[in-house]
Amino acid sequence: MTALSIRWKLTLWYGLVVGLVLLAFSIAVYLMIRQHLLQRIDKGLSEELSDVLFEVRRAKSTNDLTEWLDRRFARHEGFDFQIRSQDGSVFFANPRLGERLLPIPRGLSTAELFNDAQLNGDASFRIVSVMAEGPQGPLTVQVARSLADFRHELGELLSVFALTVPLALVIALGGGYFLASRALAPVQRITDTANRITAERLNERIAVSNAGDELGALSQTLNGMVERLERSFQETRQFTADAAHELRTPLTIIRNETEVALRSARSADEYRHVLESTLEEVERLRRLADHLLLLCRLDAGVDARQRAPIQLNHLLDEVLGHMRLLAQERGIEIKADEIAPAVVTATAEDLRRVFYNLLDNAIKYSHSGSAIEVRAQLRGSECLISVEDTGLGIAPDHLPRIFDRFYRVDAARAESGTAAGLGLSICQSIVRAHGGTIHAESRPGAGTTFYVRLPVTAILPREVAAIHPT
Ligand code: ADP
Repeated sequence: MTALSIRWKLTLWYGLVVGLVLLAFSIAVYLMIRQHLLQRIDKGLSEELSDVLFEVRRAKSTNDLTEWLDRRFARHEGFDFQIRSQDGSVFFANPRLGERLLPIPRGLSTAELFNDAQLNGDASFRIVSVMAEGPQGPLTVQVARSLADFRHELGELLSVFALTVPLALVIALGGGYFLASRALAPVQRITDTANRITAERLNERIAVSNAGDELGALSQTLNGMVERLERSFQETRQFTADAAHELRTPLTIIRNETEVALRSARSADEYRHVLESTLEEVERLRRLADHLLLLCRLDAGVDARQRAPIQLNHLLDEVLGHMRLLAQERGIEIKADEIAPAVVTATAEDLRRVFYNLLDNAIKYSHSGSAIEVRAQLRGSECLISVEDTGLGIAPDHLPRIFDRFYRVDAARAESGTAAGLGLSICQSIVRAHGGTIHAESRPGAGTTFYVRLPVTAILPREVAAIHPT
């Protein structure tokens, strides 16, 4: 069966079911008609018997009886009659029966008894027998009917079945094959389109003829899959192009400065200046490479095993301690009065990076003299951490894209080339890898708030003491 196509498998299953139904139906019809015909024969036999018995009972003498019987039953069309005396001798029999004796069933009484019998080898008869009181003692009265017609009718019925059942089966198989072909036609279309779709032709889609049926649902699922693939290919291409672009800028600077320096002899100070600038650009390249590697690692989701329960408030205290110094240099205050204790399962290094990035941005885009407010609140099974500044804010056009890789609201606004627009996308990747979410709300000119939601880890009190943010 494995080598057969679905079309043939469906057709054969359909044929098998139809065949079984036809067979059951034919057997039921055959048995019902047979039963009906037999009942009709028995009814006829009973009626004839009561006619004979009527004569037997009203006869006063044997002569009367013989005469009446002769007149009424000797040349009857469909039935044969035989009456025997108690000694077994034939008292009356119609001529067609001749010498043939109808067998008398055992245990016969005054109640009608039906049975079948073979006379002279092949002729089958249905017989009804009964004992009755004749004018001169008890008589065995029997009425018989040949079953030849009955057999013939059943034979005809069988030949009708023998002709129609295979015919119906052939029609059913043909119809089944046709229907299976029609139902499976879209599969071929899906296969053809799927074959055409390659990495270069991800814009192709499978035509959905009927969205409501199973194949329509399959087409839609495949289309959805191709769409996601297309998007992810597009993102990968964009990412590669952006990364190459980011790498080009420092490399071009290094090359230009070196070329200029090499054109003529320079003083030691000038060479020092070129080397310092080169070091700066190399540092920028190294940072970029680090960020790209980190993003690859997060995309691959390889570090999930290194996570451990971490006291989030301790980790925040540590990050805030470092960032306060940076903020003070800019005349910015960091407030952190509402930090609820919470335990999260995380890679401490990654989580620290999230809050360093968010605070670094908040400081970068705040005005001197303003304040940044950091909060951590427990919300059911989550911890909501917010970093709120009253700085430049982000315009609504840019807000949805700030988590995109290499996206900068305004390249000129970003600090002298160190920011590649990867900070927030790294934050997002880390938070998502930890089962959380990150989003931002902002009003241009009024400030920005970043919200990080992280699932908190249920922890036994005695374990808490062992948890440190390192
Ligand atoms: P970068 O690493 O270049 O800072 P990010 O991914 O961290 O890039 O941020 C993307 C953009 O979002 C930045 O160019 C910046 O304009 C904007 N942005 C991020 N944080 C803030 C903030 N707190 N206030 C205003 N703008 C912000």
